[in-house]
Amino acid sequence: MNFDLHPLEFAGIDRTAPLVIAGPCSAESRVQVMAAAEGVADAGVKIFRAGVWKPRTRPGCFEGIGEPALEWIAEAATANGLYSATEVATSAHVDAAVAAGINVLWIGARTSANPFAVQDVADAIRRSGQAGTMTVLVKNPVNPDLDLWIGALQRIYNAGVRRLGGIHRGFTNYGDRSLYRNEPLWRVPIELHRRYPALPLICDPSHMGGRRNLIEPIATQAYGIGFDGLMIETHCQPDCALSDKEQQITPEELKEILERLVINKCSQTSESLDDMRRRIDEADEELMEVLSRRLAIAREIGRYKCDHAMAVVQPSRYNDLMQRRVQQAVDMGIGEECIRTVLAAIHEESVRQQLSLRC
Ligand code: PEP
Ligand code: MN
Repeated sequence: MNFDLHPLEFAGIDRTAPLVIAGPCSAESRVQVMAAAEGVADAGVKIFRAGVWKPRTRPGCFEGIGEPALEWIAEAATANGLYSATEVATSAHVDAAVAAGINVLWIGARTSANPFAVQDVADAIRRSGQAGTMTVLVKNPVNPDLDLWIGALQRIYNAGVRRLGGIHRGFTNYGDRSLYRNEPLWRVPIELHRRYPALPLICDPSHMGGRRNLIEPIATQAYGIGFDGLMIETHCQPDCALSDKEQQITPEELKEILERLVINKCSQTSESLDDMRRRIDEADEELMEVLSRRLAIAREIGRYKCDHAMAVVQPSRYNDLMQRRVQQAVDMGIGEECIRTVLAAIHEESVRQQLSLRC
């Protein structure tokens, strides 16, 4: 199925301007929410976020104020000319958020991993009778399962929501050696964008990086890839935040970051770009010719091995070849992971073709 969507147009925000959502991880008190909304508005942001039901990984942490905080968010947003956004994970959350007049709902990463929960939210959205005017954003599930993410988007779409978007917040990693709290695995949102170009995608560098100093570099990458906007956790006193304090920044820091970022949404092409693309096409053709020549030699070798009762896979030759080529490629400025993947795929195809000679 395809998504036939309306653009996520808010006052002063259209497809040419980035869609930025900012505000605290959690609503903690009326005063904190008011101050954050004022700061976010000063930073030029139009959509104010705050979580009221916090899906914490382990019990015993601050789990949010719950329903009473919805009023603070709605009031703070109205007082500062902002749209309001909060996370929903159950039908009861949807009912309460809609009743409080929250403008944007998002589904968190732990919820989008669970089709029953997403369906429960979708059913409540349909029952509200406001699906047609509501904006809903679906975060990627915690695990890098693109179909699960798409499935969650489809459940919300099928409930009648046409102002729909995805939020990329990275994927759980095992072990703590990674730079990121949640791995970016950019190829996943890139593939989502390839399949559904009309679906707006925003990036959440706060949950991805898990650290303040990673927000700007991640946001820069996201805009470089072509994301439509950002969700950034913002708190007036990040060190005192009741949740996710390491990754929250002040509204002043947010303003500075947003001023430095450049949105890459120009789709006009020029003659010089066309020329560079032609050169890329030529290089790709050369690559395919070389690849096909290489496979022809592999088949010749395959026939020799077959005639001389040799096994197709010769590990020592493979290891030696891999080691030399990887070094050579790295010296030529090609990333090691990339060349290993490419060589492994080429080798796999050679093996497949050599084996097929024996059938
Ligand atoms: C959040 O946005 O506060 C949140 C809980 O995010 P995620 O679902 O990405 O973990
Ligand atoms: Mn958070």
